[in-house]
Amino acid sequence: MSGQILDAEGGCHCGEVRFRVQGEVLRNVYCHCANCTASKGASPVHLLVVGGEDSVRWLGDPEAVTTRSSGALRLVSCSVCLCPLVQYREGKGFRAVFPVLLDLRRGVVGDDHGADRLPDEWAPTAHLNYENRLFDWHDALPKFRAFGPGDELESDGRSKSPGGA
Ligand SMILES: [Zn+2]
Ligand SMILES: [Zn+2]
Repeated sequence: MSGQILDAEGGCHCGEVRFRVQGEVLRNVYCHCANCTASKGASPVHLLVVGGEDSVRWLGDPEAVTTRSSGALRLVSCSVCLCPLVQYREGKGFRAVFPVLLDLRRGVVGDDHGADRLPDEWAPTAHLNYENRLFDWHDALPKFRAFGPGDELESDGRSKSPGGA
């Protein structure tokens, strides 16, 4: 679905936590799952799923982050500002990070919001967990009922007819 190599630093909202992410991007997606929606207060959430249990390294004090569980999901946040930083499932071999926090962005937030965009090469390539969407999304991206592949939906969210492409 992606295959890009990510090598970037990121940080939380308050600046207490800095981290580096390195690895292959397995998914670059909008996630509509109930966990992302409830824990971030937004839907969908733009995720990069990066291969490797050690793909995220904390720069600085490891005590600056707090990990809590939500079902099988581990949610890692800044201990000070509580900004969500990373999420993963134990033993599944990935770390999911939020591109909005990464230094891939072109500038800093200012009068010209255009300076703060992510480069187009990091645009999401699909919608995952689309069955949990709050609203329909009228774009050309593939939409998967859950994690895909094999459960792709029609662009309007209906199931593809059996035997269809
Ligand atoms: Zn923070
Ligand atoms: Zn999710």
